[in-house]
Parts: sequence; C-alpha cells; structure tokens
Amino acid sequence: MKLKTSCLFLISFIFSSSLLPALAAPARPGFVVTVLGARGGILDGNLSAYMIRPAGDDRAVLCDAGTAMAGLVAADRTGALDDIAVPPGSGLTRAGYVLTHTIRAYLISHAHLDHVAGLVVASPDDSAKPVYALPATLRDLSEHLFNWRIWPNFGDRGPSPALGKYHYRALAPGRTEPVPDTAMTVTAWPLNHGGVESTAFLVAANGASVLYLGDTGPDVVEGGRRLDDLWRAVAPEVAAHRLKAIVIEASYDDSRADRMLFGHMTPAWVVRALRDLAHRAGGPRSLRGLTVLIGHVKYSLAAGPAPQDVIRRDLARDAAREGLRDVRFVIAEQGLRLALD
Ligand SMILES: [Zn+2]
Ligand SMILES: [Zn+2]
Repeated sequence: MKLKTSCLFLISFIFSSSLLPALAAPARPGFVVTVLGARGGILDGNLSAYMIRPAGDDRAVLCDAGTAMAGLVAADRTGALDDIAVPPGSGLTRAGYVLTHTIRAYLISHAHLDHVAGLVVASPDDSAKPVYALPATLRDLSEHLFNWRIWPNFGDRGPSPALGKYHYRALAPGRTEPVPDTAMTVTAWPLNHGGVESTAFLVAANGASVLYLGDTGPDVVEGGRRLDDLWRAVAPEVAAHRLKAIVIEASYDDSRADRMLFGHMTPAWVVRALRDLAHRAGGPRSLRGLTVLIGHVKYSLAAGPAPQDVIRRDLARDAAREGLRDVRFVIAEQGLRLALD
C-alpha cells in the first residue's frame, strides 16, 4: 500500500513537472514581435523583417526578411532574444540558433529586395523551412532570385538542380493554413503596391492575432479596394479584441504628394486606413488597446530631423484630428521587442 502511494506520488510529480511543459503551462493569448529590420530603404542591414511568435513560445515566423542575420545580431545585443533558451551543446551563437531553430517559416509579402535580401544571403547556412507567400511572389523568388544566376537555387522548384532547402508554400487569399511545427496559423490577402502585388498576413494563435502588412499604397491612390477588403476580412478579429497589433508601413511623412507615393503610405493615409478599419469593426472604440507598429520608414540622406521623428509627430496630429485616441503608435526600431498581451 505504501509502495502504491509512493508510485502515485512519483507519477503525479512527473506529470506536473517540466517534463510536460505543454500541459503544465496553458498557452497565453499574446504575442512577441521582435523587429529585426525596420527601415524601408536605403539602409542595408536594417530592412523590413519582423519575427512573430506566441507569448511563451520559442517557435516563430519571420514576416519579410529584408535583413536577417544583421537584425538577429542587433536584437541579441539589445537583449531582445534573451528569453530564447539556447540548449547547451548546440554549438551555436544565440543569433545562429534563432535563425536555424526559432524561425520555423518565412512569410514573404513580395519579392522586392528590401524584403528578401536577408533571406537570400543567409540561405547557405540557414535550416530547411517553408516559405509562405502568394503565388506571384513565389514565382518571383524562384524565377528571379533562387535561379542559379542571381543566387544558387535553394528552393524546391525552378532551374535544376533545385536544392530544396526552402519549400515554397503557395497561400490562397483568405484561406487559413497551419504553420507546421508552430502553434500559429496564417491567412494572406493581396495588397496593391504600385503595380506589384504585395501581401498582408494574419498570424493567429491561442485566440489572439497580429496583422502584418507588406508594402501597400492607399486604395484611393492605387485604385481598387484591397485595403478595404482586408479590413472587412479582419473586422471580426478587431471587434472581438483578439487582434493585438497591426504592423503597417509609413514610408514617407505627410509632406509627400500622393503622385509621389510609388505604392506606399504616409501617416495621414495610415490614420485614414485605421479609421476605415474602425468603421468596419463597429466604431472608434473597437481599436481600444490596439498597437500599431509603424515600419518601412525610408531612411534619409538629408541632414535635419530624422524621418521617424517627423512621422511620429505627423501620426499624433493626424490621429487626434480623426479622433483615433485609443491606438498606441510605436515606430519600429531594429532590436525592439514588443510583448503584446
Ligand atoms: Zn519595401
Ligand atoms: Zn516593395
């Protein structure tokens, strides 16, 4: 009898111990976004790349990869990767471990170089993983980058021999797919970007979500209604306060003329787009608690105030004018780690 009690105690100890972390710690509805690259050109080494993972989970996706290793090294320096445990004996630096083990998939919005350069140059030492994108972007990657002329073909299609390290996974607009080896799902919608198709990705897990928009222009300037279609699709996530953050671009400040946007946004257009989203989701209060991370600010060669400071001021003024008081704007900076609960 005594032996039986001891066995039961031992069994209950094993089940409640860290041997079964998934059972011991229920998943929290939140995300961690780590900025590996923040600018929209022309600063090589700091171009669009956002690592997204559920709170308390080391399995991430990388939304765009304009910068990869340089961003991981910078993020490691700021301590933004400190919560990722590198197993003893891995033989890897923390940045190396995160590239090859933490990042389980790439989500690529479009194949412009400022969104893929980090992926291309890191590919020889990267681990095998899927690359999710709309079909047009996958075609650009396989025909124009991983083609044995611009770079060896690390993809699983295109000019022979296809080395097959990257598995191209075509997404269908609006159809949700699980991301293997992660707790996340992804849903894609097309965006208009000055004649190029770009992509928005909704990354969801544990009842929460983050929306990442690749480069996009405003519907009014681009023609069409792809932003409005996106807002209608994600409005239920917003209305239910499941959407924790939107990553969206503001390449230029408000002094930029619409005819000079070349498929990009300004703070005024971002605020108008958010107002449209609020309208679709049931009113301005629906954006309460939402974080809007502003990326793709274009680096400037001009002396004077930094573009991100001008954009921060523009956003505050535009948001006040449109009555968007409940949104928290954050300007993306390389090495920034945002915990979103
Ligand atoms: Zn870009
Ligand atoms: Zn672009």
